[in-house]
Amino acid sequence: MRIEIKLIPDGMDLSKAIQDGMPVDKMQDECPIATQDADTNQENRQYAIKDHQYGSAVNPDESCGVCSYYNITPEMQHCIKDESGETGYCQLLKFVCSASNSCSAWEAGGPMGHSPCDCQDTHCDCE
Ligand code: SF4
Repeated sequence: MRIEIKLIPDGMDLSKAIQDGMPVDKMQDECPIATQDADTNQENRQYAIKDHQYGSAVNPDESCGVCSYYNITPEMQHCIKDESGETGYCQLLKFVCSASNSCSAWEAGGPMGHSPCDCQDTHCDCE
């Protein structure tokens, strides 16, 4: 028997994530390891370049900044130490990417920019 466990980040297209699965992030201090370790980030970035043609976006409408894997939630911006939105964390390829770049794994529906709504928080507008 084979059992698969899939983690699906908030904001991600559920049907696609269930179908494709998502590699689990190795974490360090509540942040993905690639956001804390430059060598890991560089290794994953090289993989994105080599296997997914990561580089400058030809079409701005299909750039990292609007990709469903582009994570710029407040928690992730804390991890990558950049709140500008110009860089974000690629949940699929596990590296810090640039909003103006793109790759062959691009998916519409991004970015992931909001924290999960906590209905105990009176400042949160839970519909
Ligand atoms: S999967 Fe999306 S966020 Fe990740 S590098 Fe490719 S286009 Fe950018």
